Amino acid sequence: MKIILFNAREDEKSALKKYQDENPTIQLDIYNEPLTSESAQYITNEYDAICVSQVKEIPDEVYYKISEAGIKVFATRSAGFDMYKLDLLKKLGIRLVRVPVYSPNAIAEYALSGALYFSRNFDLIQNNVNNNDFRWQPSITSDEVRTKTVGIIGTGNIGRVAATLFKSLGAKVIGYDVYQNDAAKEILTYVDTVEELVPQCDIISLHAPATSENYHLFNEELFKKMKPNCILVNTARGSLVDTKALLNALDQKQLRAAVIDTYEFEGPYVNKLNNIEDIKDEVLLQLLKRNDILYSPHIAFYTNTAIDNLVSIALNGAIKILNGEEAEGEVKL
Ligand code: NAD
Repeated sequence: MKIILFNAREDEKSALKKYQDENPTIQLDIYNEPLTSESAQYITNEYDAICVSQVKEIPDEVYYKISEAGIKVFATRSAGFDMYKLDLLKKLGIRLVRVPVYSPNAIAEYALSGALYFSRNFDLIQNNVNNNDFRWQPSITSDEVRTKTVGIIGTGNIGRVAATLFKSLGAKVIGYDVYQNDAAKEILTYVDTVEELVPQCDIISLHAPATSENYHLFNEELFKKMKPNCILVNTARGSLVDTKALLNALDQKQLRAAVIDTYEFEGPYVNKLNNIEDIKDEVLLQLLKRNDILYSPHIAFYTNTAIDNLVSIALNGAIKILNGEEAEGEVKL
């Protein structure tokens, strides 16, 4: 079997090598370039499948080129697939396979780490140390996680692992989900509304997808219901939080701090070396400036295990389809 793979990033090289070593019968031709009209010249009829990890839109002519080469399977090394032209794939009879779950632990551990950073006052302690202030003083004592209540919003794959991690430290864990599931009931206690969850929590971790119903779920009104010591962690999607309202709530001391791995308008800046002068987004500039915000560029997933899994699950998904087997990640077109 022969697969052509585009946009091989530096951080994927070791995962790709490992895959090749473990699957010597699969011939993998690897290109660093993203899939564009120019790089599409490498696609020939010797290939059975194509594997991409695309951020930029793929021109229509490239889809036609894939089809003309007789390629029937298009695998993406990502969970999301909204960047592809599904109608065109369907029309051309090309099947799409993605990686629905690659490592919930990666994101859940990141959420836990961010929450611990603030709950143990690392920000305040570091600030004191930077000023050579090594005193033990009440302003930097903290409460242990086992004395805290943690709220998980969205109790799917990642939310359940996050709940398990917080519970393993002894926290009381409560959860909210539009569709409660039995697996989560083993770990946490559900409440019926977000409004009921928020005032009880010392840490709130978001793990729901972006939908029209939860756009700016965390808004001015909800921030007013928070405990003043509460830490908000968003590793889910930026649109769940009204960021201007968050900044205002922090100024009003309605919560203690926030971990922001996903920000509504992160798009132009993610996975890039940015000059500060080129960042025109005033809200983002404020997020970057504050010590009570731990900002990161949508990086919670970024572990070696996750990268290994993204590569191997995408390729294995393509191979399953080629072998006439069912692939869990196949997207119904
Ligand atoms: P999942 O589909 O397994 O679980 C999502 C859960 O959220 C489901 O149980 C669903 O019923 C629930 N839900 C949907 N709408 C809701 C709402 N309005 N309120 C409460 N719950 C709601 O998804 P997952 O794999 O656990 O991913 C969770 C989130 O993490 C997604 O937003 C995903 O995009 C994000 N994510 C972030 C990163 C990162 O690097 N930061 C990486 C991967 C995934």
